[in-house]
Amino acid sequence: MSKKPCNHEYLAATDFGKAQICRECGVVHLHVQNLTMRFEVNDFLGLADTLADAAIQARTGGKAEAKRAGFTVIKPSQRLN
Ligand SMILES: [Zn+2]
Repeated sequence: MSKKPCNHEYLAATDFGKAQICRECGVVHLHVQNLTMRFEVNDFLGLADTLADAAIQARTGGKAEAKRAGFTVIKPSQRLN
């Protein structure tokens, strides 16, 4: 079984952090300052959605209407991919 070599493709790069994906491994590498985290793609997408929701609430002082009922677990198959 030969696997293609890792190829880290940039998803985003800003002053705040960088995100790279290896589509061969299905892993996202998130670099924030001197911290690097690795996530399975679905876990990364769940975290990204969580952060996006948190950012909306932070910007609106919690006044934004929740798009989903509370902070319940979302079925991964329901979202993205
Ligand atoms: Zn890889």
